[in-house]
Parts: sequence; C-alpha cells; structure tokens
Amino acid sequence: MKYQTIAIHGGRKDDSGKGAVNYPLYLSSTFEQDNMTEFKEFVYSRGNNPTRKAVEELVAELEGAKFGLAYATGMAATSNVFDLLEQGDKVLLNNNVYGGTWRFVSNIFKRRGISYEIVDDFNTYDFSKVSQDVKAVFLETPSNPLLEVTDIRRVSEEAKKKGILVIVDNTFMTSYFQKPLDLGADIVVYSATKYYAGHSDILAGLVVLNDEALYEQLKFFQNTTGGILSPFDSFLLQRGIKTLGLRLEKHQANATAVAEYLNSHSAAEKVFYPGLKDNPGYLLQKQQASGNGGVVSFLFNEKEYDMERFVENLKLFGFTVSLGGVESLICRPATMTHESYDRELQEKIGIKQNLLRLAIGIEDTEDLIDDLKQAFAKAKK
Ligand SMILES: *Cc1c(COP(=O)(O)O)cnc(C)c1O
Repeated sequence: MKYQTIAIHGGRKDDSGKGAVNYPLYLSSTFEQDNMTEFKEFVYSRGNNPTRKAVEELVAELEGAKFGLAYATGMAATSNVFDLLEQGDKVLLNNNVYGGTWRFVSNIFKRRGISYEIVDDFNTYDFSKVSQDVKAVFLETPSNPLLEVTDIRRVSEEAKKKGILVIVDNTFMTSYFQKPLDLGADIVVYSATKYYAGHSDILAGLVVLNDEALYEQLKFFQNTTGGILSPFDSFLLQRGIKTLGLRLEKHQANATAVAEYLNSHSAAEKVFYPGLKDNPGYLLQKQQASGNGGVVSFLFNEKEYDMERFVENLKLFGFTVSLGGVESLICRPATMTHESYDRELQEKIGIKQNLLRLAIGIEDTEDLIDDLKQAFAKAKK
C-alpha cells in the first residue's frame, strides 16, 4: 500500500467487534486484568493506551518503520530522546534548529553535564576530527527558519563510522516527503502539532525508529517521565493523519506559488525555499525528499517598505508562531520562534530582524497571493 492508503487503512482496526471505521477512543486510565499473574496488553494508560497505541503503530507504518511513540508535545518527544544522553556526552547540532530545542540544549544540557557544538554546515563538516565524547548528531532539514538543506545520507554514513547516533527532527517534511530512517538516520522526531495533526487544535510529538533496543529504552523513559499523548489527542491526531498527504500537496503547491511571487517582488530582498531553483539546497532536497514543504521565509526590504504596516495589513495570514495547520500564518523568528537565541548568535547564523517566516496554509492560491499583494501595496514607503 502507498502512503495515503496507509494513512486511511493502516494501523489498528477496531477490535471491539462493532466495526467502527475509526479506531475507538479509550478514555480509561486503567484496565482490569483477568488474573493475578498474567497481565494483558493494556494495564495503565501512562504505560500503554489502545488509542495511543493505534496512532503509534500508524505513524511507524507510514514511515515503513518498526516502532512509533507518541508524546504530549514535540518537545516532550525531543526531551525523551535527549534522555538517552549521559553526563560527559556531547551532541552536534545544525545551526538553526527549532527555538525550543535550542532552549533545551543551551539550558538543560549544562545541568546534566552534557556539552554541544553548533555545526554551521554538516554537508562539509569533517567527521574524522570529532572527539570520542560525541554521542549524537541532532539535525533539522530543511532547517528552521532558514530552510537550509542537510545531506542526511552523508551525515549518517559519517556518523555511523564513529558510532554516533543520528537524530532528525523531520517536522517540516513529515514522512510524506522525507524518510530519514531510509537515508540512514537512527531516530526521527516530530512535532505532530504541525502537519500531522494539521488543524492547529492539539499539541503532539512523535518518535519513530527501527532499533529495538533504543525503542525499549525510549518506551521506558516515556512511561517513567510520563509525557504521553492523551487518548483524546491520539484520536484527533489519527484523524488528522487521514488527510496528511492531501494537505501537504496543497501546502506545497501554495508555498511554491508564494515563494515564486515573493522572488519576483521588490519587497523581498531574499527568499528562502528549497523548491526555488536558485536555492543552494535545491538539488540535494530533490535527491533526498519528494517535496519541499509549506514553509517559506524571506528578508523584508525595509528600505522601500514598512514591515509593520505589511504584517498588520495582511488579512489571511495570522501573525503568530507555529505552522502546519490549514490556515496561513506569518511570524518574525528573531523575536518569536527563535527568541531563545541571543542576538549575537542570531546575527551569526542569519536570523535577522527583517526575516519573516510564512507557514503556508491550504487556502486558494490566488487569495493568498492577492492578500500579500494588497499588504505590500499598503506598506510601500
Ligand atoms: C514546533 C516544533 C517543535 C516543538 O514542538 P511542540 O509540539 O511545539 O512541542 C520542534 N521542532 C520543530 C521543527 C517545530 O516546528
């Protein structure tokens, strides 16, 4: 079965005998056992809940992977993966990762005696020089918010030689466009708050992997620290996933149109979208992913246009953080999603004050372009 068919027909079937076409919602914290010695599959919902299990199995199946785990948020998923690290370990990260991940690394790692290094370009990084204490690589590709593309296959091959774990935050692509495990990565994490759930109504996180020993460890951490996805949100997540492929095609078609429009407009100094031919990651993206996603960033031309007036005059693009929902949004990474980076680091890695990030929704393309057009016209100095 192909992706969209699995999204609809994959995973667990209703096992209640009632023939529900959707996997039932089990709002039960605990499950009675038949006898005192043998426990059934479900005992207590922190450890295992049928509705959560159903979505965990589905996301693994979508990716052709063995195991899936669902968490309360994307950060709970990332946090559980970081629980694999021990005092004295070191992590390499690409230079623009999700702001919350950066907040975790730059604060909590220190308390745990874990060190990190920011890598400006993993595509040319010399792994032969890494020290013994490097235990993991954490990367996002395309990155957030500059949409830089990292060669997952190269990093995985190099890392494997040194026994370094490769973790990919695949939120921007989802398994519909990119399958990091097939490219050699060990663990994939997602903020399922974004495209998987898709409707800006729940927060959720996922971890997908093939290695059984790592899975057992993460499953133990999940049950121990308790940041699980609730049954209700598991149900909604599964509902969202049924239309994931359809939505992503439209997100992408709209994002391509918006990126091309911005590229031709004097209000955009520079446009960042891996689907644009002039983007340095264009070819690599084509090789390792089957699409470019729905996020477009651009540097606003403040000499000729007023940025505040532009943003305030947009009618369809809500001014706020997040992405992956059906509606279009706009934000300013330097003061919003990436405010946890200090100003100096922001400057160094290119998160400028005039950078705007668009999360393109699934509205009609023409309406989105018209909205940008009228807001630019009002913002002209
Ligand atoms: C939103 C996001 C996260 C964090 O997910 P939450 O569900 O908000 O905790 C992590 N990585 C990326 C790339 C994100 O966009």
